[in-house]
Amino acid sequence: MKYVDEYRDAAAVQSLLAEIRASATRPWTMMEICGGQTHAIMRYGLDEMLGGAVELVHGPGCPVCVTPLAMIDQALAIAARPGVIFTSYGDMLRVPGSGRDLFTVRAQGGDVRVAYSPLEAVKLAQANPQRQVVFFAIGFETTAPANAMAVVQAKELGLDNFSLLVSHVCVPPAIEAILSSPTNRVQAFLAAGHVCAVMGYWEYPPLASKYHVPMVVTGFEPVDLLRGILAAVKQLEIGRAEAENAYPRAVTFEGNQPAQAVLRRVFEPCDRQWRGIGLIPRSGWALTPEFAAFDASVRFGVADVATAESPLCVAGQVLQGWKKPPDCPAFGTLCTPSSPLGATMVSSEGACAAYYRYRRFAHTPA
Ligand code: SF4
Repeated sequence: MKYVDEYRDAAAVQSLLAEIRASATRPWTMMEICGGQTHAIMRYGLDEMLGGAVELVHGPGCPVCVTPLAMIDQALAIAARPGVIFTSYGDMLRVPGSGRDLFTVRAQGGDVRVAYSPLEAVKLAQANPQRQVVFFAIGFETTAPANAMAVVQAKELGLDNFSLLVSHVCVPPAIEAILSSPTNRVQAFLAAGHVCAVMGYWEYPPLASKYHVPMVVTGFEPVDLLRGILAAVKQLEIGRAEAENAYPRAVTFEGNQPAQAVLRRVFEPCDRQWRGIGLIPRSGWALTPEFAAFDASVRFGVADVATAESPLCVAGQVLQGWKKPPDCPAFGTLCTPSSPLGATMVSSEGACAAYYRYRRFAHTPA
């Protein structure tokens, strides 16, 4: 299959691994931002094949994982209301809130439905004018433009029974929060190719320069990932710290300008809580005043919901690269995909789920 097979080619993978091992004069620590990249690394065993040249730590780029518990509890409260059709991507249905999850709300009579796009929710609102339809708008810059378009469309259609529960986050402020932490151990970043396909990578040169850390835009197949790692190693070895694009078949410096324009029309930056990490200034999107009437948390008055995390869960430390999932005492025992304590074990992009799925019960030392 074109654009897949050549990026999974075993000979190309071995050649890149050999070049990385030959280029690294010391072990380097780098973070892949995206949970999809974490799963690809685990699936193909790339971390183990690097032979200690690079330690990969796993970043906060899993939207389900970083959606705050308070936001999930708001979703549960809205979904349980009579007359509401609550729609969400499938992953969110199993994420535990303080006491239950969306599946439980559905089992108890709530009208909770899986949607594959926010436009499905707009159509539902058109078809059910007597019901309130809410879409759970989570995710990074990859999903935010589609949600923005849904709100634009709902406004154009004059729908007053459609709203978004917004928990969007953006990548660059999270990178800055990790780099400015006194406990940071990340020496280079593999930036998420799909986010950069939308946003470009014009936001990264100032960060690379300010923190003197290479940032390499990287794709998702084994050859893509190893090309990104090799580019980062080469920069580290000669003391360079620049933003670089190792995924040019999908990413340009400027990104998708129309998508960025609709994003800026519908959303504006806001401070946002990240689950397990805490508040990161200007790391989220909130609806602009023009579209504030479509804010579900205001419409349903659920902004102040009290929450309680599992005291055992160390997902926040995993998402910042301080710990690996097997370092958590609950990993694989009290916390499994069928009985998750934290979102990183539930999500299809979560680091704990990746380690569990690929049977990594001890982490790979550098
Ligand atoms: S294994 Fe479970 S409890 Fe431990 S950090 Fe991961 S999600 Fe949290």
